Amino acid sequence: DASPVKRALISVSDKTGIVDFARRLAAAGVDLVSTGGTARALREAGLTVSDVSDVTEFPEMMDGRIKTLHPRIHGGLLALRDDEGHLKSMRDHDIAGIELLVVNLYPFEETVAKGAGFEDCIENIDIGGPAMIRAAAKNHRFVGVVTDPADYETVLGEVEGDGALKDETKKRLAAKAFAKTASYDSAISRWFAQQNGETFPKDYTLAGKLDAVLRYGENPHQEAAFYRTGGKRPGVATAEQAQGKELSYNNLNDTDAAYELIAEFGTEKPAVAIIKHANPCGVAAGEDMLEAYLAALRCDPVSAFGGIVALNQKLTGPVAEKIVETFTEVVIAPDADEAAKQVFAKKKNLRLLIAGGVPDPQAPGMTIKPLAGGFLLQSRDAKITRPEDLKVVTKRQPTDAELADMLFAFKVAKHVKSNAIVYAKDGATVGIGAGQMSRLDSSRIAARKSEDAAKACGAGAPLAKGSVVASDAFFPFADGLLSAAEAGATAVIQPGGSMRDDDVINAADEAGLAMVFTGVRHFRH
Ligand code: 5GP
Repeated sequence: DASPVKRALISVSDKTGIVDFARRLAAAGVDLVSTGGTARALREAGLTVSDVSDVTEFPEMMDGRIKTLHPRIHGGLLALRDDEGHLKSMRDHDIAGIELLVVNLYPFEETVAKGAGFEDCIENIDIGGPAMIRAAAKNHRFVGVVTDPADYETVLGEVEGDGALKDETKKRLAAKAFAKTASYDSAISRWFAQQNGETFPKDYTLAGKLDAVLRYGENPHQEAAFYRTGGKRPGVATAEQAQGKELSYNNLNDTDAAYELIAEFGTEKPAVAIIKHANPCGVAAGEDMLEAYLAALRCDPVSAFGGIVALNQKLTGPVAEKIVETFTEVVIAPDADEAAKQVFAKKKNLRLLIAGGVPDPQAPGMTIKPLAGGFLLQSRDAKITRPEDLKVVTKRQPTDAELADMLFAFKVAKHVKSNAIVYAKDGATVGIGAGQMSRLDSSRIAARKSEDAAKACGAGAPLAKGSVVASDAFFPFADGLLSAAEAGATAVIQPGGSMRDDDVINAADEAGLAMVFTGVRHFRH
């Protein structure tokens, strides 16, 4: 229905751009009606606007809880303009039509994010706003509903044109409006459940905002899109893309894995991770970022081809120079200096993401995994193993150097798909075995990789010689441990807790290994 927009109701909490928008509506001959604060803002800008309270002949009351909840407003939004009965009701009850509704809601999520108290959050639950949005969206044949300032321009274009909104515009706005009220209510319901001490509410709704429809999914025949859920955790979802090709589904997935891994190392000392297929193929931490990058690369230079690089500190020119020597898909860092940006500018396809910060690895959060017919929800693996958590179970005590490398390797193992085996030496991984169905296989693969790496860099012995080894879960038998010892590991870090721990400890003692138990497992499937 292409009837002209004669009257607009504007009621907005976020008043960005509202004065200009309203001024142009008024200039196009549209009458304006507003709630208290909005009317004040428009009048201060010199616009003529009537008050909702004059339309309803009721004052706004109860601290604003009641402003627009009235048949004169909802009738004007809901009446079918091609229904004789509805039109008669409008005449009988002195209800004037509203053809355009412009609403944005009380900032509930922002209020929660600010750390406001319970009562303050409750007061920021908008009631009249969602009611009007739903009414207008239901009656989209006759009413346009604007819930996002990004739509102001399109709406003006049509109203300033022939005075009416196009049917397809009204339908699109209606769909967006219902998504808005759904996500608003889902945020409230999740917060409320939390207030009641429920980690897992009876009904769980997740709302996201479309960031991008991707070229394809994990494979070219799959469709995919990226949604933001509004979390503030620095990472892929909040990062600015400084340059490079569009990010793909796999890029996003791998970059997330890379940045979550690097977060384990804080920001005090440089750390680098190189990721392929969501698994690290090299990780190093140390005093110098360039050295750390080279050490990470040395672990598995073949796999690093086409990888994702994550840094926990500002990317600088010299490090960027080294990175571009290997074909790299994405680099993510909290920041990058001008020199680094200039180096990357020559590699048009290389994507550079500036995350602004490094996330707290211990911050609470949930992870979701889809299953046929549902999804699994769990709290993030936010567990950190500290020196005081370690229990030495062998006759031999680990040296300080072994201890440092064991803690490093265990941090990395947490981010390797199970079964995970990680060899490390001098703050760098020297062999990673990921995603095998048996721990023994992961152990063998990691050892073989350390041989390959030695060949690639011209080292005389496998890089695992004199290393430590970390396992994400206990060794069920001594074989995996012995295979690690054979590969050259001198110390072992693992959760412990197997029925055969005694066998495994005896084997370690016989091989002269030092071994510590963490008591914590890091499966990642
Ligand atoms: P204003 O700043 O104009 O006084 O208020 C604007 C806000 O009030 C908007 O966010 C709008 O969604 C909200 N609002 C409009 N009508 C009602 C109502 O009847 N009850 C409540 N709680 N909020 C309303």
